[in-house]
Amino acid sequence: MADYDYDVLIIGSGPGGYVAAIRAAQLGLKTACVEGRETLGGTCLNVGCIPSKAMLHASEYFDAAANGTMAMMGVEVTPKLNLPAMHAQRLDAVKQLTGGIAFLFKKNKVDWLKGYAKFVSPREGGDLGQSGASSPEAPAFAGAHVVEVAGKRYTAKNIVIATGSSVTPLPGVTVDQKVVVDSTGALELPKVPKKMVVIGGGVIGLELGSVWRRLGAEVIVVEFLDQPLPGMDMDIRKEAAKIFKKQGMTLKLGTKVTGVTVKGSKATLTLEPSAGGASETLEADCVLVSIGRRPNTEGLGLDAIGLTPNARGQIETDHDLRTSVPGIWAIGDVIPGPMLAHKAEDEGIAVAENIAGQTGIINHAVIPGVVYTWPEIAGVGLTEDQAKESLAATGGEIKVGKFPMLANSRAKTNHEPDGFVKIIADAKTDRVLGVWCIASVAGTMIAEACIAMEFGATSEDIAYTCHAHPTHSEAIKEAAMAVTGKAIHI
Ligand code: FAD
Ligand code: NAD
Repeated sequence: MADYDYDVLIIGSGPGGYVAAIRAAQLGLKTACVEGRETLGGTCLNVGCIPSKAMLHASEYFDAAANGTMAMMGVEVTPKLNLPAMHAQRLDAVKQLTGGIAFLFKKNKVDWLKGYAKFVSPREGGDLGQSGASSPEAPAFAGAHVVEVAGKRYTAKNIVIATGSSVTPLPGVTVDQKVVVDSTGALELPKVPKKMVVIGGGVIGLELGSVWRRLGAEVIVVEFLDQPLPGMDMDIRKEAAKIFKKQGMTLKLGTKVTGVTVKGSKATLTLEPSAGGASETLEADCVLVSIGRRPNTEGLGLDAIGLTPNARGQIETDHDLRTSVPGIWAIGDVIPGPMLAHKAEDEGIAVAENIAGQTGIINHAVIPGVVYTWPEIAGVGLTEDQAKESLAATGGEIKVGKFPMLANSRAKTNHEPDGFVKIIADAKTDRVLGVWCIASVAGTMIAEACIAMEFGATSEDIAYTCHAHPTHSEAIKEAAMAVTGKAIHI
């Protein structure tokens, strides 16, 4: 009998942790997953991806009715907002999906340990050669790690840290979840604010700002940088800013918030240019703080096992997701890389396969990012600036093909004229280096670009692949044709 309770114990049941647990169990490993929340699924299912998409989807319908898009297609309706019903369908989606993970755990025989896990001591029980080594060839058992959960101790041969991330606080600003909210509070507002100021024009600020703008709030986004959505291609960021302004959002770019004071139900914000200069004040009845997220490592007792986070608070791993402590692995938002659910999931699968002695595969160069606004904004691979910089080192150059959605027959027919597709390729080899789009269904379209890039496609490979007509995806084919100057419909 093994000298430990579990082959694998996973801390955190977000998309990283729960996927790792299910995959480990599929591979025949005795698996437990520890979760401190009442329900499984982590940030993503409880207070992130899923509830935000439920509110985005519902508010999109309201907006289409209110802003004349439906009338343009001959459907005349005057929308009436039933906010409690909109929240109820959000909560129902969360309940069904988090319950679905509990069902999958049962089905795969993953033990759900309820409570917060903490390392309490270094590895123990290591008596090389005696226990755990199932055959003379197998590596000697070097001892089990120990965690404490709700006052009980559990031992495991491998532990995966998948504790995710939490909202980054803005110094001097107190989130009361009434007037000043974070993303969780912004999902649950009991009434539509008259005036909402969003601090940070990143993904959360633009998605949740869009929800409340569509439902009738005046929304002002204050962004430190010159354009919103850092990390995306600059053409995309500029076009996105134009579209959000056209929709009625105010973007105060190159501006930072230096303080927020709350009196009763009103907030007063102090702002100043990021580069310094005269300050101004703004009044609001709701302030959303969305300036990023930080890894969850506090209270984990990492010092007990001799693991130190890096300067950004992240746990460093090697390509196989091993930390510097043998038997301890880490995945998802708590390690470096984009804080995205699908990146965490892919790492979850890879870590389980690595622990089982297989070769877990994850290509960090091909991880798409999608902003679920209207239209959607999506990208994968290098931005134009990154591609230029990476090829410049070897004297290489890039080629760029662009195609506007205005010239795509399906988008035009659907009254969705905004956006474009941009493909960046190596001028010499024609290999695709990055694909960026703004289109109503950009999040779905980008999957094609991911497959193409995984297979090392050239722009010509995409250009000579038959795309169904009439679809938004034809814009990807046309952008690929535009790389060599042969787009047809423009
Ligand atoms: P998490 O999902 O954060 O899960 C970690 C879990 O670990 C938590 O449930 C936590 O309670 C638990 N935990 C922490 N410490 C302990 C401990 N000591 N013991 C036991 N349990 C512990 N990403 C996308 O790709 N697409 C989106 O559309 C998207 N939308 C988002 C919208 C919002 C509003 C937010 C906030 C995030 C969104 N994200 C989105 C990001 C996405 O939610 C995260 O990247 C993803 O959840 C990270 O997964 P994870 O498994 O690393 O961690
Ligand atoms: P973010 O990093 O996307 O954006 C934060 C923004 O705040 C940046 O643009 C930054 O320049 C700005 N900022 C920082 N300090 C500021 C200040 N004092 N004043 C004004 N602006 C300031 O972070 P987020 O929007 O909070 O999202 C957190 C994470 O959650 C992201 O990493 C994202 O990947 C993930 N997420 C993903 C999705 C999605 O995939 N659709 C949706 C929501 C969240």
